[in-house]
Amino acid sequence: MKSKVQNVLRECPFCGGVTKRIISSYKQTVMFVCEKCGADVCFYGAEHEPKATQAWNRRNKKLQ
Ligand SMILES: [Zn+2]
Repeated sequence: MKSKVQNVLRECPFCGGVTKRIISSYKQTVMFVCEKCGADVCFYGAEHEPKATQAWNRRNKKLQ
């Protein structure tokens, strides 16, 4: 069963695949990893949630 996602993530800006968010407790690093093409984007320190998700979504929007 899938758990509910709090913030909706946009698709991968490169291939349109499903992106998953990985939040590391170490240094509060937030990673977005595409399950299709393997592209990954990391946000460190100051750009942790919810800013990271907003930045990811904004990035995707530019390319549409
Ligand atoms: Zn992709």
